[in-house]
Amino acid sequence: MKALSKLYPREGLWMTQAPVPEIGPEDVLIKINKTGICGTDIHIWNWDDWAAETVPVPMITGHEFAGEIVELGRNVTDLTIGQRCSGEGHLIGKTSRQSRAGKFHLDPGTRGIGVNEQGAFAQYLRLPAFNVVPLPDDIPDEIGAILDPLGNAVHTALSFDLIGEDVLITGAGPIGIMAAAVARHAGARHVVITDVNADRLALATKVADVVPVNVTEADLAETVSDLGMKQGFDVGLEMSGNQQALDQMVEAMTMGGRIAMLGIPPGKSPVDWSRIVFKAITIKGVYGREIFETWYKMIAMLQNGLDVSRVITHTFPVDAFEAGFAVMRSGKSGKVVLDWTI
Ligand code: NAD
Ligand code: ZN
Repeated sequence: MKALSKLYPREGLWMTQAPVPEIGPEDVLIKINKTGICGTDIHIWNWDDWAAETVPVPMITGHEFAGEIVELGRNVTDLTIGQRCSGEGHLIGKTSRQSRAGKFHLDPGTRGIGVNEQGAFAQYLRLPAFNVVPLPDDIPDEIGAILDPLGNAVHTALSFDLIGEDVLITGAGPIGIMAAAVARHAGARHVVITDVNADRLALATKVADVVPVNVTEADLAETVSDLGMKQGFDVGLEMSGNQQALDQMVEAMTMGGRIAMLGIPPGKSPVDWSRIVFKAITIKGVYGREIFETWYKMIAMLQNGLDVSRVITHTFPVDAFEAGFAVMRSGKSGKVVLDWTI
């Protein structure tokens, strides 16, 4: 089968031929139709310090996918051949305290497909049946292929009650933009999104009814006053991984505000903890998606009018993957989807 692999420990990915994976009794084999390129895949392409420390070579990359089941392991009884699906790319164990309590997303032994285990940028993917998420007919493959990052957005956005709240999102990358759409859908009053990239902010306004602020040229405090907000933001969703953005968020929060942090700062970064203490701010770190509550909620919201389709700005046939990665790396895209069927 065709597979997009990290073959050598240097910049780039290579289209190669790999054997179709053999499945075990609890697995399914999925024929991949569409995949999404994630920031993680860009780290792996760039072969930065994180990638070099984390990813063994050779490795088939990719973890955002939609496809259909073509083979069932002998113990799999609750899925059928031909079922369209996406799936959770975090592979978890069942023996930890967290897993036994049903908190699968907190299993300390989590391994990621396309990072620690062979991934989804291939014509076929082996996945434990447990990880499969069937796709309803009204959710097309291109949306199925971005459920993983939409899940990050949903997990983060639904960390705190949003009804009637004023929400600040720092970072208008694909996940920040989708979180803005979710916050709107979930009933926030004002949703303000910041970035330093004008293209990303323009895309945000196409996807969701949000107030964009380019922090290189505008003062966030002015936006707060223009909106008639009496105090700061009630809920913050940090989705940039940028230290200045977090600082700005802490400053802009109201007393007792709540911050959910998905963005991953590149290393240790200084934080003014006294501001956080005196403002009595709650900070929650968010990793991945809740397995499987986030998946349930996002599919339900998509069926109830949540529309994130415009966050997909480019689709390429997989043979043009280099063009797809180039547009992702330019910062001038939203989600980029690779089509494995043409
Ligand atoms: P992205 O890199 O596409 O988007 C980040 C955005 O932040 C960019 O548009 C960038 O211009 C913007 N930004 C930079 N400096 C800023 C500043 N000072 N103020 C406001 N915005 C600023 O990333 P993404 O794919 O949308 O993911 C968002 C974040 O979530 C990343 O940090 C990513 O590593 C992280 N992530 C975490 C998890 C997890 O499980 N915790 C999962 C996926 C992604
Ligand atoms: Zn991803």
